[in-house]
Amino acid sequence: MAPDRLQRLIDAASANIAAHEEELTTLDRAIGDGDHGANMRRGFAAIEAAGAEISSLEFGAALQKAGMTLVMSVGGASGPLFGSLLMAMGKSAPAVPANAAAVAAMLTEGIESVKKRGKGDVGAKTMLDVLVPVRDAIASGDDPIAAARAAADAGLAATRDMKATKGRASFLGERSIGHLDPGARSSALLVHAICDVLEERK
Ligand code: ADP
Ligand code: MG
Repeated sequence: MAPDRLQRLIDAASANIAAHEEELTTLDRAIGDGDHGANMRRGFAAIEAAGAEISSLEFGAALQKAGMTLVMSVGGASGPLFGSLLMAMGKSAPAVPANAAAVAAMLTEGIESVKKRGKGDVGAKTMLDVLVPVRDAIASGDDPIAAARAAADAGLAATRDMKATKGRASFLGERSIGHLDPGARSSALLVHAICDVLEERK
């Protein structure tokens, strides 16, 4: 993938996380410990700081490096989980994903890695409740970008009525119901940022 495109993906992801840091913090304060905004901002600021190096790499290596950067810079559960997502996507990535099926295949590898590391699956009120429907939408939609955006929004909204059974929010049990999941929100922010960049080039 062209370095300028990778750099724009990094910048867009980082900017959307930074713009919503407070919101992520507020969501995590409701059902967690309130650090998700700071965790994500720190992680993506670190990726941005390494942006020149990351964007000079082959696409797969760039994803792996970005994932490792998250693992190293974020203390919370989300760092290793988003880190595994990106590292596993990077390991299976082609130099340039040729079509929606290739993107969905990469995302499947990433999702499997998150499931394994977090010992979870969809329905536990986590990032997977956005990532999995987004993958499914990309794999099946005629317009993968529009489908990914819609699936991210719907997946996020659906976390509100779920009871958390993984992560810190699971300590609240029934009291986790009625709140959006912070990691699902940050996943949706990343999906939107990526879709915006990809759409520029259509
Ligand atoms: P911490 O929970 O350590 O404070 P963060 O607040 O940064 O870390 O991240 C919390 C988010 O991580 C949750 O909203 C959820 O989406 C995600 N998460 C937590 N545990 C898991 C898990 N086992 N599998 C998938 N995602 C998880
Ligand atoms: Mg937290």
